[in-house]
This record gives sequence, C-alpha cells and structure tokens, in this order.
Amino acid sequence: MRAVRHSAEGIEVVQVPDAAPNLESEIISVRSASICGSDLHLLQFGALPFTLGHEFAGITSTGRAVAIDPNVPCGTCDQCRGSASNRCRTATNRILGIGADGGMADSISVRKSALIDLPASLRLEDACLVEPLGVATHGMRQAQLVGGERIGVVGAGSIGLAAVAAARPLASEVGLAARHEHQQAAGERLGAKVAQGEYDVVIECAGTSSALERATEMCRPGGLVLFLSTLWDSVPIPGFTAMAKELGFRWSFTYGEHEHGTDLKDSAQLLSDNPEIAETLITHRFGIDEAREAFRVASDRKSGSIKVVIEP
Ligand SMILES: [Zn+2]
Ligand SMILES: [Zn+2]
Repeated sequence: MRAVRHSAEGIEVVQVPDAAPNLESEIISVRSASICGSDLHLLQFGALPFTLGHEFAGITSTGRAVAIDPNVPCGTCDQCRGSASNRCRTATNRILGIGADGGMADSISVRKSALIDLPASLRLEDACLVEPLGVATHGMRQAQLVGGERIGVVGAGSIGLAAVAAARPLASEVGLAARHEHQQAAGERLGAKVAQGEYDVVIECAGTSSALERATEMCRPGGLVLFLSTLWDSVPIPGFTAMAKELGFRWSFTYGEHEHGTDLKDSAQLLSDNPEIAETLITHRFGIDEAREAFRVASDRKSGSIKVVIEP
C-alpha cells in the first residue's frame, strides 16, 4: 500500500507492507488526513522512520465511519489512571504519525478504543479535523469557562481558527488577532470580530514571543492566558504586565476524557453541527500521490492555505 514518509529526499509516497490486523485493532481505510504545523516541524529532523499523519479519519472493514485518537497512552501510569491520559508519562513517542506509523496511508491498524464514531452528517473527507478541533475543545475545558466570557484569540493558523470555532458557542464575544487578511476573514466567517478591548480569557495560538506579549496586553486584570500553541522554543514572559494584572497562565495539551464524554467526541459533534468550520478550515485537497505538493502548499505562507487535506 501507499504511505507518506519523509526521507532524505523530502516528502515521498512509498510502498510499505499492508497494515496487519490483530485482536485489539481494526484496519481503517483512510479517507482523509490533514497536515499539521507539527508535521512541518518534524520535517526539520530529516528522514523519519515512520508514516506521517496524526489527523485522520476513515472507515472500518464493517463500514463504521470513524475518526481516530492518535494518542497511545500506557494505561497504567498515575496520569492514565487519574483520567488524564493526555498527560501519560510515556506516550509522546508512541503517538501515531509522530513516533509510530500514522494515517497518511491507504490503511492503518488502530486499537479499537481509539475509534470515534462520527455523527451521521459529518463527512469522512472533513472528519480528519476531529483531531485538531479536539485540541480546541479541550482548551475550552482547560479554560474552566463559566459561560458568557469575552474570549480573545491571538494567532489565526488552523489552531487559532479552531479555537474561534470552539469558543464561539461559549463566549459572549470572540475577538481574533490575526496576522494575515485571509486568516482574519476566515475567523469572521466562524463568528469572530477583530480583536478590540479587553478579554476575560485570551487563547495564545501562535507560539511566538510577540503573540504572548499581545495576549498579555489583551487580557483583563485577573484574567487567564491559555496556551493552545506549541511552544517549540522557550519564550520570554512579559512579566511586569502579567504581574501587575495578576494574570493566570495555563496550558492545554491534546485532548482527553471528561465526565460526560471526550473532547474528540465533542469536536466531532461541533463539526457536524457547524459545517462552516470544515468549509472554512479546509482550503486545499490533494490525492495521496500528490503528497509532496500538498506539503509544499501547507508550508508556503503565500498559498493562503489553512488546512491541507490528503485523500488516499
Ligand atoms: Zn496536529
Ligand atoms: Zn500512562
């Protein structure tokens, strides 16, 4: 079968052995897999010994339409036993598409407990967004909202726009600080206004020191800055402003389970209820044989791309 890998020559579509079933797993025929900023970051490490793709959806041999939780928690550490498997102490090198074979392939073997059934009206070709939008639905839980807050979002790549989509039903107003015009327009389609004034919660979605500075400025005294970005490098804290306002800083990492379900199920429902989210976020689609071009478009800031989807 075909699989997307990163070799010394760059992104390649290679032939690998078919995914093998076992008792705990299901073979998924992949229908959509989207490219994430962290995929682009991974490429800097050169040739990778596994298939890329942690945002994907497909169909089981019995015809179930599913999205996939790419995390593979150990199930036995204190965090896993404490219902915080996203904080598993050993899982990061097992995440599908990050440390183990991922979903940019014709098919993949996935443990049964990682399958998320899709609401009937959510299209498989859009369901790769369940994972990245799940990052945002988890972020809303981490923000411990009481309802009706003014929520600011700094950064309008796919995570920032996912944050807008997840915040919109919960906030009295969502204000977006975007760097590019097409991103601001996308945010407005999802219900955000241009950021103006103070916000109770500001979600930092760019992962840069200037974004953190902006988030700190936008936050009201006593408010919360929530980090949804991936900070690959250390960033300086605008300490004086944060201190004088007694701001809270909190992090959010992937997604997990809660009293009434899971962040990924919430994400699937949000996508199903609001088709404009997928229509706005997915700007480009490519067949798997065009994976190299798909990655080029995703990494080209001038392409106007938000989410680039590969369809095996
Ligand atoms: Zn991702
Ligand atoms: Zn664990």
